[in-house]
Amino acid sequence: MSGKFETFIAGMTTLLEPKPNEADLLPVCGALLEQLVAVDDWLPDSHAVSNPETYCQYLLYRDPEARFSVVSFVWGVGQESPIHDHRVWGAIGMLRGAETGTVYSRDDNTGKLIEGDSVTLEPGMVDFVSPRLGDIHRVRNADDKQASISIHVYGADIGAVERRVYDPETGEPSPFVSGYTLPPQ
Ligand code: FE
Repeated sequence: MSGKFETFIAGMTTLLEPKPNEADLLPVCGALLEQLVAVDDWLPDSHAVSNPETYCQYLLYRDPEARFSVVSFVWGVGQESPIHDHRVWGAIGMLRGAETGTVYSRDDNTGKLIEGDSVTLEPGMVDFVSPRLGDIHRVRNADDKQASISIHVYGADIGAVERRVYDPETGEPSPFVSGYTLPPQ
């Protein structure tokens, strides 16, 4: 992959070496990611392909010790994620198009979801998720004419993490493991 991406991976690896806590590492991760998505000229076409059936999540890099992973999310026109959580820290950098993320919290008594703020990311912008900051959200393509692509970094091998999706009406959680989308040959 490109020198730009290798520089990002080297930066993340150096950052995580001394096992920093989340509050210390996230701003640095965000700055590295901001550099990575500043210019849209490095993502391989194989990891930018949209699927009319569903959004795609292509693995770009998995740290050998699974301390972090990097994924390209490709949202086709009209596509959105279920309401889901992550269980680890994550950073989202917008590369192409635009996406809107809506955060949710859960009512302590009823377990029902309470809709919070929506933020639309434009290319070059970075946002964060984590159990500490607010971990439940839904993401959708905010561009109604073309696929949108964001680069996600997580504090684990995210495709293998057992997470939860939430019923939008009842807030009922169900376990899910996302896996990764195989890039076209
Ligand atoms: Fe997410």
